[in-house]
Amino acid sequence: MSRFDGQVAVITGGALGIGGATARKLASQGAKVMIADIDDTSAAANVEQIEKAGGIASASHVDVAQHEDIARMIDEAIDRYGRLDILVQNAFGVLAGESKIHGSAVSVEEKDWDYGIDVLLKALYLGPKYAIPHMRSGGGGNIINLASVHSFLQEPGMLVYEAAKAGVVGMTRQMATEFGPDGIRVNAIAPGHIVSEGLAKMWEENPDGLAFFTDQYPVRRTGTPDDIANGIAFLCSDEASFITGHTLAIDGGLTVQLQEKFGLRQALYARDNPDARLPG
Ligand code: NAD
Repeated sequence: MSRFDGQVAVITGGALGIGGATARKLASQGAKVMIADIDDTSAAANVEQIEKAGGIASASHVDVAQHEDIARMIDEAIDRYGRLDILVQNAFGVLAGESKIHGSAVSVEEKDWDYGIDVLLKALYLGPKYAIPHMRSGGGGNIINLASVHSFLQEPGMLVYEAAKAGVVGMTRQMATEFGPDGIRVNAIAPGHIVSEGLAKMWEENPDGLAFFTDQYPVRRTGTPDDIANGIAFLCSDEASFITGHTLAIDGGLTVQLQEKFGLRQALYARDNPDARLPG
């Protein structure tokens, strides 16, 4: 008997990166998985990989910036699999999205603020809006929201991302309080720097940059999508049945170290490498 036998999971942004690894992990532990993503080609490739490994998966074209796509996503999961047990709210293009919403309170355009908040925060209210009635009628469920170390650590240029990711932590706590009596647990994960497929390409071209960031982590490595998928699977499992409203940092210790020293090193690197991303 596998951990998630008989359960159905929807994973936004489940084609690549953290979402991709999460889809494979939950499917390998018995869940039927629906990948909801804007990238149809990568979603289909991940479905194929899951099926080859003996799992059950399908894809749905969803843009989480669109209210109607999110409503349809939940309907499709119910139509295809008859129930909904797990919703992982993860979608966001780290590379493309981050440059689009980069800036300060003075420089960010209102339309870019609206886009960032729609994708990173509003979508995480809309998913549960449609998912929770089905979870309730099925006897409970698990919602996992992707926060970030940027929920807690701030840096110039990251207004929209950091405002949204801090909001994710608050929303997670609020929904956990509200829906705990229905058997629905709501938790978040705050990853450190996770080298997804897209970021791996970027670091191949800048190995010194990766070495600098690796050095910022007490465990002296950056993360993998599987590091996060393992945390998500744990939080959705019965082993975590007394955990709700929690934001689990999976960050190799990045956020527990002395921030004055860490912040100074970050600032020096940012000064010398103005186009570089910072960890997490
Ligand atoms: P990624 O870019 O590797 O993958 C994101 C996936 O989301 C892709 O499959 C993409 O097609 C999909 N996507 C993007 N915009 C979408 C939209 N509007 N609708 C539907 N699908 C969409 O990203 P990742 O690094 O795996 O990050 C996933 C989540 O983890 C994000 O919420 C991100 O903020 C968070 N996070 C990532 C890191 C990191 O270092 N990678 C650190 C902290 C938090």
